[in-house]
Amino acid sequence: MSQTDTASHNVDLDIAVNYAEVQGHVADAARDAGRDPAEVTLVAVGKTFPAERMLPVLNAGQRAFGENRVQEAEEKWPALRQQFPDLCLHLIGPLQSNKVRKAVEIFDVIETVDRPKLAVALARIMDETGLRPDCYIQVNTGAEDQKAGVLPEDADAFIAQCRDELGLPVKGLMCIPPVDEEPSLHFQLLADIAARNGISGLSMGMSADYETAIEFGATHVRVGSAIFGIRTKPISA
Ligand SMILES: *Cc1c(COP(=O)(O)O)cnc(C)c1O
Repeated sequence: MSQTDTASHNVDLDIAVNYAEVQGHVADAARDAGRDPAEVTLVAVGKTFPAERMLPVLNAGQRAFGENRVQEAEEKWPALRQQFPDLCLHLIGPLQSNKVRKAVEIFDVIETVDRPKLAVALARIMDETGLRPDCYIQVNTGAEDQKAGVLPEDADAFIAQCRDELGLPVKGLMCIPPVDEEPSLHFQLLADIAARNGISGLSMGMSADYETAIEFGATHVRVGSAIFGIRTKPISA
């Protein structure tokens, strides 16, 4: 093996070890909460990491992945999908209206439906293409200016618009709690909004707090750095 081969082999080994650890923690957290571990899907967030870094977890059986940029996903995933056709790709970053068609073509789940204009565009493109990725409504539980998502007080009306008026396949809610606040309050708020709207999917929890999220009912946890390591490249625009 060349030196680079050895280096990347070690990185891949680290990723495989991290992945097994996270899987174990997910299962333990589910059992501790009296839940069936099979109810919780680990979504591996590969953003900023190249396609070949996905292979250690793909080869270990991981199939749900998250990306936060349409363009990065487009560069990275079609080739991997040929090799692993049962992939489930989640969009977890903001979606601009002019990228909706691409997003609908590439992703199996769009977790960031956050405004009427986007919901309308999604409904139109789904009608045109016949493709129907699952939709999650992103809720800005901390009402942060810089963060996307519908405000908690507007969530019920927006969910009704997406589901009843536009016929979107709304399968869940998603949130990203403020970094400096106790995440459990936000997880509980999201779970409450989901329950009163009869929605079963809850995408919440990241590397720092996925075990807490599972305690509060997460059905999907989005874990990046705990598996792939610290991101050194800036998140592409
Ligand atoms: C990057 C990202 C994650 C993963 O974050 P980590 O802290 O690396 O686990 C989860 N959710 C969203 C929306 C992200 O953008």
